[in-house]
Amino acid sequence: NNLSQRYSTRIIRRDTRPVMVGDIGIGGDNPVRVQSMINEDTMDIEGSTAAIRRLHEVGCEIVRLTVPTLASAKAVGEIKKLLASTYQPVPLVADVHHNGMKIALEVAKHVDKVRINPGLFVFEKPDPNRTEFTKDEIDVIKEKIIQKFKPIVNTLKEQNKALRIGVNHGSLSERMLFAYGDTPFGMVESAMEFIRICHSLDFHNIVISMKASRAPVMLAAYRMMADTMDKEGFNYPLHLGVTEAGDGDYGRIKSTVGIGTLLSEGIGDTIRVSLTEAPEKEIPVAYSILQAVGLRKTMVEYISCPSCGRTLFNLEEVVARVRDATQHLTGLDIAVMGCIVNGPGEMADADYGYVGKGVGTIALYRNRDEIKRVPEDEGVQALVDLIKEDGKWVDP
Ligand code: SF4
Repeated sequence: NNLSQRYSTRIIRRDTRPVMVGDIGIGGDNPVRVQSMINEDTMDIEGSTAAIRRLHEVGCEIVRLTVPTLASAKAVGEIKKLLASTYQPVPLVADVHHNGMKIALEVAKHVDKVRINPGLFVFEKPDPNRTEFTKDEIDVIKEKIIQKFKPIVNTLKEQNKALRIGVNHGSLSERMLFAYGDTPFGMVESAMEFIRICHSLDFHNIVISMKASRAPVMLAAYRMMADTMDKEGFNYPLHLGVTEAGDGDYGRIKSTVGIGTLLSEGIGDTIRVSLTEAPEKEIPVAYSILQAVGLRKTMVEYISCPSCGRTLFNLEEVVARVRDATQHLTGLDIAVMGCIVNGPGEMADADYGYVGKGVGTIALYRNRDEIKRVPEDEGVQALVDLIKEDGKWVDP
């Protein structure tokens, strides 16, 4: 069975329980969700509302905002109202750090999910001259965590809202660092401690993340987290991300390596691509990753050859023209191939093909069948006409 999974051309996702964030479900049979975070000051109510709207309009399904103070927790209430009256409700997540239980309790009234970081939850730094905690000290800290954590868990439970236990490689607690170093094992243990508390309080609307800024670290941590939960009988969804991935091509590649690798192993129920760019720029990258691994199809899939000495037309230019004309036709696969030698064979899965066929002539294909040949300069229009004839065209 492992082998049939391994050789499957479709990703078999890890079984997880669905967790609702507003009206958006994460895990279970839900599609892998796309989320991001605004970078406005939460106290700027109009600016934050506009930023959430901008993200939502480009396809971000869940939006997070930072809530560092009690005043900003209250501001989230205003943001939520303004969103509902000027746009529409958007599933919101509040990021709460550093001893922020009062803040978490306040903001839980206004958002659909609260994110806490176990590493920053209880201040537990011992005497700097020592290198470990005693068992008694650990027991005291654990009890302190339970007492501090309980009210927020109970509040979320009463309101049927969700919690993200968001571990970061760079902010593990001192206790975890002493016990495990800054290892994936320490990251998993940090989350497990909180999962077990939630479980003992019969609260299960939990999503877990294990972010790190280096792909190999996050890969190991997420794999270990998934295995540990499966072994202990917890099926909570996972939120994937390479944190601080940077910008530009490399930021996108790093995110894709981390997120795409895990998704292709069936791990992951919601993703955030973290770029040092406007958050709106993250959304197309997220959807491209999901489409490339075959989990969500939200745009036309273009298949085009790299071109070579056999190429009979300016492939780059033609691909751009085909894309301009057809990119709104979600759901289609369109191939553009330089020549007939490998073209039809390699594009066999596509709905339509545009293939060089001798100097100045191209052939149009529907699946494997050649439909017609036309002069090259009429090729894009003829492709559009063919899609229209088939009833698959919609106006942009
Ligand atoms: Fe070259 Fe033809 Fe292959 Fe394109 S499809 S790379 S033109 S051989």
